Amino acid sequence: MKRKLSERALGLAPSATLAISAKAKELKAKGEDVIGFGAGEPDFDTPANIKEAAIKAINAGKTGYTDVGGIIELKGAIIEKFKRDNDLSYEPSEIVVSCGGKHSFFNLSLAFFEPGDEVIIPAPYWVSYPPMVELAGAKPVIVFAGVEKDFKVTVDDLKKALTNKTKAIVFNSPSNPTGAGYTKEETEKIAEFAVENEIYVISDEIYEKLIYGGFEHVSIASLGKEIKDLTIVVNGISKTYATTGWRIGYTAGPKELVSAMTRIQSQSTSNPTTISQWAAIEALSGPQDEVEKMRSTFEERRSIMIEGLNDIEGVRCNWPQGAFYAFPNISGVYGKSHPGGKIGGSLDFASYLLSEVKVALVPGLPFGDDNCIRLSYASSVEDIRGGLERIKEAVSRLS
Ligand code: GLU
Repeated sequence: MKRKLSERALGLAPSATLAISAKAKELKAKGEDVIGFGAGEPDFDTPANIKEAAIKAINAGKTGYTDVGGIIELKGAIIEKFKRDNDLSYEPSEIVVSCGGKHSFFNLSLAFFEPGDEVIIPAPYWVSYPPMVELAGAKPVIVFAGVEKDFKVTVDDLKKALTNKTKAIVFNSPSNPTGAGYTKEETEKIAEFAVENEIYVISDEIYEKLIYGGFEHVSIASLGKEIKDLTIVVNGISKTYATTGWRIGYTAGPKELVSAMTRIQSQSTSNPTTISQWAAIEALSGPQDEVEKMRSTFEERRSIMIEGLNDIEGVRCNWPQGAFYAFPNISGVYGKSHPGGKIGGSLDFASYLLSEVKVALVPGLPFGDDNCIRLSYASSVEDIRGGLERIKEAVSRLS
């Protein structure tokens, strides 16, 4: 019998961020001295109180299935978090817990988008937004804002992309991969645009706590009743609490949508891991001082990374307001050569760095900006300094 994959799968590339991290790990396991800036995950261990809560849940026998959309105790902790941090009120029926923020976005796409819908995605974007929108049969409409616009789209940019098929815009502040954060005023303008044109906003707020230099994160949903009704907030515990592998994300939005997402989950993954859900309650409701420690450590590393990058000829890096990524423009080295070839774009540069000096990072192309590369500074200061030296050396060898 002739076997053929679905068109859906044939057209699907693997996640570039995960692929690079896997490659770096594989080389390290082989004993290669690789410095990895690929992984988009905190390098800290999960705080002890969160681990303890998981161990307690296991010992108490809380290991069976739970309600598909999450235990009510966790929904309660999420509702409290929204009140405390974002001045937002939700009912339990407006919250669904999924297996990580990525799974939240995926379920949301399946529940909300269909062929004929257009979804505006500002670029540079996180690698998985366009494929997830496409898997739902809808069309991603990319609106580009490069380094000269500090990677932030304006209402004028959005207007040009608007059609009568536009259903939603993806809003990710602070952004992965650029770290750019929209100010309150900028966010208000995007909210007005959404309300005026009656389009939904999918607000990915996973990096809301990892912010620097006095930047303040404002949830777009908190800017008034009309925009709240049009906003679906996606968030999770992974980045804030160094719990990436625990897989807990959550969505807050209109009841009907949350119920549809829960139905999709009931026919696919069932509940997110029970043990992680109990731990997530502790993460959200327990002491928050570890979060501040991690945040301030990231802030120190940010300075070393950004200053170091700007010290390399042909590299220009804006100061990110949040997340833990630097997204420098490296077009200054394009056209230069090395014995193995020429640097024509971000893929060439990333593979040159990996083979020449064993530095792993993610090319900008899969994020929608081939002039840039993404480096995560969720690494030790030693690795950041060492990696920067290697990159500088590799660039100096180009002619
Ligand atoms: N969000 C992280 C990143 O961008 C984790 C990997 C992924 O799911 O893409 O690196």
